[in-house]
Amino acid sequence: MREHVALAPLTTMQVGGSVDYFVAARTRGAVEAACEWAAEHKLPVLVLGEGSNMIVSDGPLHRLALKIELPGFEVTAQDNDSATVVVGAGEHWDGVVERCVKLGLAGVEALSMVPGTAGATPVQNVGAYGAEIAGTLTELEAYDTKEREFVRIGHDDCAFGYRSSRFREEDAGRFVIVSITLALSKRPPAPPVYESLRRHLAEQGITEPTLAQIRDGVMAVRKRILPDPSVVPNTGSFFKNPIVDAAKLRQLETRFERVPSYTYGDKFKLAAGWIVEECGFKGQEHFGFALWPQHALVITNSNHAGYTDLMKLVELIVRSAQEKFGITLEPEPLFVR
Ligand code: NAP
Repeated sequence: MREHVALAPLTTMQVGGSVDYFVAARTRGAVEAACEWAAEHKLPVLVLGEGSNMIVSDGPLHRLALKIELPGFEVTAQDNDSATVVVGAGEHWDGVVERCVKLGLAGVEALSMVPGTAGATPVQNVGAYGAEIAGTLTELEAYDTKEREFVRIGHDDCAFGYRSSRFREEDAGRFVIVSITLALSKRPPAPPVYESLRRHLAEQGITEPTLAQIRDGVMAVRKRILPDPSVVPNTGSFFKNPIVDAAKLRQLETRFERVPSYTYGDKFKLAAGWIVEECGFKGQEHFGFALWPQHALVITNSNHAGYTDLMKLVELIVRSAQEKFGITLEPEPLFVR
């Protein structure tokens, strides 16, 4: 265990202060021991993966930061059509996708290049290009800091929603995920529905892509529009796509020429990136932070600015979207205060 550890270098946005205690866990036993120690010292546990979807406030944070580094990738069952894979929570997610694709296992290829660890994917129900982790995750194992025991939680008990789950809503901070179990398919993958990916593949004459072609396509499209967090500090999409009802969508369509929207159950999903762009922020710099020129939804921190300035920019964007669209944008990353 280390004391007074700076968290900014452990997150991809690179803001925030220090935490009182820090420990990295590579085993279930180490997770349990750390949680027990924190309980004894009445300290909340802050679970860290690769810090790619987390904004840390200026410290000091009176907590135990627990960095999850549990390894593991095991095909535990399979037949002609499908396979079950159990993955350690500390595995780098894109490495997991790469291995699944190499094994010919479909279900997560559209989630290629999503930054972070495997254990973090259920927390916000990571999604991209029409797939989400809830589509393949059958169960996970976690240490329950309330009951002080390891538990298995099935898919239906995760309360998955759009970029959400019980792990970031009602049970935020309660469970430390140590492994996830995925049910993957050996059948040919469904062709992508997202226009940007479809167009990219069509340009190469591909209409019925293989798993590897979908992965390569997603990676190429992402590289074109998103900054690499290891080079340009950022946390990916900064705001969730708002879900609105038909009346709100009609109202917007009378005021704007083109409103990108997609059906979502009996409601409609709007593109948060379009809202931020229409508010005039794309490519702009404010308070030391900038909005990525190729993608208005990504806030970058090349100047290594601080948390307070980031909050000023977030407030400015939220206020602009509220005034122009009557919509409250919600940040996608987790805020640690
Ligand atoms: P895009 O293709 O420009 O589309 C803008 C938004 O419209 C996306 O956010 C997407 O929602 C939605 N959309 C587009 N086509 C859709 C369809 N056929 N059906 C339903 N919804 C559709 O999106 P982008 O910003 O370049 O991103 C492409 C994908 O990568 C998206 O799925 C996005 O979520 C994902 N992504 C994730 C992050 C992250 O940090 N988490 C960062 C960048 C991109 P959804 O977001 O619901 O898919």
